[in-house]
Amino acid sequence: MQILQGITVSPGVAIGEALVIDNEGFRIPGRFVLRDAVEDELQRLDRAINSVAEEIRHNRDKVTQQLGDHYGAIFSAHLQMLRDPMLHDELESLIRQQHHSAEYAVSRTLRRYAKVFQQLDNVYLAERAHDVFDLESSLLANLLGRSRESLADLETPAIVLAHNLTPTETARMNPDFVLSFVTEAGGPGSHTAIVAKGLEIPAIVGTGLFLADVSGGDLVIVDGDHGQVILHPDQETLDRYQQEMDDHRTLAVRLAGLKDEPAETMDGTRIEMLANIEFPHEMKACIDRGAEGIGLYRTEFLYLGAESEPTEEDHFQAYSEVIRAMGERSVVIRTVDLGADKMGQLPRTEEEHNPFLGVRSIRLSLRNLDLFRVQLRAIARASALGNVKVMFPLIATLEEIRQAKMVLADTLEDVRDDGIACADSIPVGMMVEVPSAVMMIDKLVREVDFISIGTNDLIQYALAVDRSNKDMASLYRASDPAVLRLIDVTLRAAREADVTATLCGEMSSSPAYTLLLLGLGLRSMSVAPSALPEIKQICRQVSLEQCETIAQRAMEMDSAREIDAYLQEQLRKVAPELVF
Ligand code: PEP
Ligand code: MG
Repeated sequence: MQILQGITVSPGVAIGEALVIDNEGFRIPGRFVLRDAVEDELQRLDRAINSVAEEIRHNRDKVTQQLGDHYGAIFSAHLQMLRDPMLHDELESLIRQQHHSAEYAVSRTLRRYAKVFQQLDNVYLAERAHDVFDLESSLLANLLGRSRESLADLETPAIVLAHNLTPTETARMNPDFVLSFVTEAGGPGSHTAIVAKGLEIPAIVGTGLFLADVSGGDLVIVDGDHGQVILHPDQETLDRYQQEMDDHRTLAVRLAGLKDEPAETMDGTRIEMLANIEFPHEMKACIDRGAEGIGLYRTEFLYLGAESEPTEEDHFQAYSEVIRAMGERSVVIRTVDLGADKMGQLPRTEEEHNPFLGVRSIRLSLRNLDLFRVQLRAIARASALGNVKVMFPLIATLEEIRQAKMVLADTLEDVRDDGIACADSIPVGMMVEVPSAVMMIDKLVREVDFISIGTNDLIQYALAVDRSNKDMASLYRASDPAVLRLIDVTLRAAREADVTATLCGEMSSSPAYTLLLLGLGLRSMSVAPSALPEIKQICRQVSLEQCETIAQRAMEMDSAREIDAYLQEQLRKVAPELVF
């Protein structure tokens, strides 16, 4: 049994067979073969080795001819490794004695070799691990007779283990078959993490290298409640986690009863519970959990999965689906927040050294007015169908919000001139996710009808930590006293200006922060659909007075670590059934 520690991005427990996605991403169909099939399996292995050897020889000759002996020698090393008698003996023994399938024997053995290389101090030798993985991929491709498995096409349940996944790859996963995923890279605030919450599967990122320790088909437990991945679990551990999965199911059934109940504190204050979505198909989860509206519709995902740039009609169709599903309830459509870690079919300028500080989000929209207008026209048309609001992301200056509002007003006028129906007025909001916006919040609130605090970026820009960097995860904390002060200042300014303030960053989906946020005066939360029942339950079990005392005490503390420990203790007192 091996336990890895990572960063939880979506809670819950999953148990299943590993599907290792590294550079090639093959799925190993079965670990064992019948005793009678052993000889056939050995022949299959030999055929694969011969055929891969032939391929390598061919490549070696081609490269030697084109680039010279020096480069060709790289392939000679591969060939030597493949023909190594020790490797052959080891594979044969796994198939003969353990009845492993040829694929499983290859993957297990070569991954063990790769790990030995990875652990060497010598950088050159450590790099050889790639060659071993290469060899594994070639053999698996040959044995399985096909290439990389698409996550969208999975047909049997698996736990996906990968070095890294883009938000688009994650979004394409089918949650009926992907039970959970774990990545070696990735930080707590990455968009891959956010999409995982939308899929409602347990997920862990930032474990560091471990793919060499695991092969497709191995049994894996993902403990998304504690950020742990357990490889090759023993029976006792397996039983314990089966029990935990049952507990999760029981809790979910109990909380489902809250669907139509309000999130009202014990002293009678209503808290607005909105949901964050990336795709229209998430509406079912929002309705099933009693969301009072959509507080954040991340429209950039229309671009991320698309082969070509979405048209006005594509935007309109997607928005219509969401608005119709919500009926009277409000839908906040956030204009595209492309750039940084969300790269899609977007008008790219040059490579940026620092894309998180570059042409992303509202900056990209304001520099590509044609693209911006396409989206705003679709929003204008969709506004005729229901209760639509528009929100601009990453506002850093007063000029930006004024400019964005101007483009919106112009577009609305154009749409009306074209005789197309749209709402009389569309409420305008902005995200508060850059520290400069907090410094200017007293003026900014006069420009908008509502604000929404985006803690995912606010933490990143306030503390100068990349939200997707696993090595900075210990600094990337919503509970950092500096972040809490920024939230506090923002909420005070909104109250004073009588402007609604929502918090739509991941912080509001985490039960650990609910008491604190209520105590700081937050009365509207936009959370991942999966988090709605739990957060509502907490609101219903506390009084505001209790929360205010907790917030006051937390605001006096010096460090995120101290604050987190304190909040966890308080949550355990208020809602022990929610602390796993
Ligand atoms: C945020 O930054 O908190 C936010 C909600 O926006 P995103 O995660 O899409 O950047
Ligand atoms: Mg953001």
